[in-house]
Amino acid sequence: MLYNIADMNTTTSIAKLQREISAIRQALQKLGPIHPGSVSMQYQVCGRTGCRCMDPEHPRRHGPYHKLAYVHRGKPVCRFVRADCADEIKQRLHTYKTFRKLMDRWIELSIQQAQIEFFNSPNKPKTKRTEPASSLKSPRKKKRL
Ligand SMILES: [Zn+2]
Repeated sequence: MLYNIADMNTTTSIAKLQREISAIRQALQKLGPIHPGSVSMQYQVCGRTGCRCMDPEHPRRHGPYHKLAYVHRGKPVCRFVRADCADEIKQRLHTYKTFRKLMDRWIELSIQQAQIEFFNSPNKPKTKRTEPASSLKSPRKKKRL
């Protein structure tokens, strides 16, 4: 029996992709708590007369405070984090970045897998585009109003 080399390569590639996806799933399960956003240090002026922050000569602002900023469902959110919680929040922000990286990789691999499974035609040799390159570009400029 003859094996189509292209088919064998396809099977190997899919197995390889699935192995990496499986590793990503496991890594995701091991992640601790996550939170999107970033923490920055903020100083504030309360504005009360006679307060150190209102000193005309040497104003000393309050803080630093840890400010957490993130965007959720398109809305920017800002909150102050208690100093004793800052480290834990930072840990979650860090874990969130790992989470996103793993998700992005999973998506990338899934697209590659689908490309092999649904969009390749292994029986046909790869051919160069027959249409002229100019057809790839839109001949007219889209007007944006
Ligand atoms: Zn003040």
